[in-house]
Amino acid sequence: MKRTITHLADGRELFYFDRRDDADRGATDARDLPPRPPASELRYDPLTEEWIAVAGHRQGRTFLPPASECPLCPSTPGNLTEVPSSAYDVVVFENRFPSFSTQTGEHPQVGGLSEVRPGVGRCEVVCFTSDHGSSFSELSAGQVELVMEAWIDRTAELSAMPGVEQVFCFENRGAEIGITLAHPHGQIYAYPYVTPRTRLSLGAAERHRERTGGNLFADVLAAEREAGIRVVASNEHWTAFVPAAARWPVEVHLYPHRQVPDLGGLQPAERTAFGPLYTEVLRRLDGLFGVPMPYVAAWHQAPVNVGRELSYAHLELFSIRRAPDKLKYLAGSESAMGAFVNDVLPEETARLLRSLVTE
Ligand SMILES: [Zn+2]
Repeated sequence: MKRTITHLADGRELFYFDRRDDADRGATDARDLPPRPPASELRYDPLTEEWIAVAGHRQGRTFLPPASECPLCPSTPGNLTEVPSSAYDVVVFENRFPSFSTQTGEHPQVGGLSEVRPGVGRCEVVCFTSDHGSSFSELSAGQVELVMEAWIDRTAELSAMPGVEQVFCFENRGAEIGITLAHPHGQIYAYPYVTPRTRLSLGAAERHRERTGGNLFADVLAAEREAGIRVVASNEHWTAFVPAAARWPVEVHLYPHRQVPDLGGLQPAERTAFGPLYTEVLRRLDGLFGVPMPYVAAWHQAPVNVGRELSYAHLELFSIRRAPDKLKYLAGSESAMGAFVNDVLPEETARLLRSLVTE
């Protein structure tokens, strides 16, 4: 694997991850780009003790351009894109319209009880393949390994940046989820705080350890493997299951069999074994309703500075599609109260996903 760093016309960093050590990555960005926007601001919600990022500049970002103007495809003479090279394997670059960045700006206090601070951090885009019409489920095992190496590389480097408290690798797939670019890609957020969801589950993990002495995530995985009824697929190093208290109509969690705080802790055999199982799960998702499944795929990794011994790196995959022609919207109970109501029995989702024939 070869990693090459270059810079885009506005100074953002771009990284090529190549299978071949002789890949030529000398192409430069010939575009005339405006200066980068200042960092967003963070406002503290005293009622929930959560930080809200306010990023006004993101309203102007590119929205579902035609394939001929895709900014994530390799550059051609007629379409200069975010990737200067005419071909690539996997590429990562700083987001042009970031929710967090190191470009600090002026953030006056706004009154009220909200503390305001700059949204220091970083947002990156990961192009999984140069093939515009592909999807993660169609990637070869070797290509998924290269994506995994990119996630691991970026997690380590972003974790070492001043002010970064948590690194989140994820993919939004499908117009129904709200993607603005169709090209197969994911994102990485380096947050300047520990996210609310992680704070909650680490608190639960701490109380579980005090009560039982065990690791909460490892105990959940062991119990699901033992029960079996919600397991969708597994191999020597990974198990995919529908959680017993799934909140989404389609939800699958993938755990490595060995507890590691983040992806960098995975051994080579574990990294290799992830792709075949994950792409099988994605193909089962696409097969469930016979239409490409919109989904969010979220890597839960340990925060940089707290709770690392309690954390257990795993992937949570979920969809808002509950029938071929129906979406689950987060309405009153979920949006206003955070109280989920799931219309689908998790055991039934697992049974349907298991019963699909995949090649
Ligand atoms: Zn494209």
